[in-house]
Amino acid sequence: MLTIKCARCKRKLFKYEKIGTGRLLHLWPDRIKKDHSTHEDKKVKCRCGNVIGVDQGIWIKLRPQSFTYTGSYIRK
Ligand SMILES: [Zn+2]
Repeated sequence: MLTIKCARCKRKLFKYEKIGTGRLLHLWPDRIKKDHSTHEDKKVKCRCGNVIGVDQGIWIKLRPQSFTYTGSYIRK
């Protein structure tokens, strides 16, 4: 499980179940276990106003500089 945090204020944004290795570029909605972000139209934001990504319908496309994450991958 990965914990995704805001790069600006360090608030927790998501708990996310990532399957496989590789860079985290987008989030599949059904793998998000906890969502602390705010959604404004298509923008996914932290409560501090930092834009984390864009909701593109099938997934949330992340902005790489906007977040950090810790945790482990599920290997398949
Ligand atoms: Zn923030």
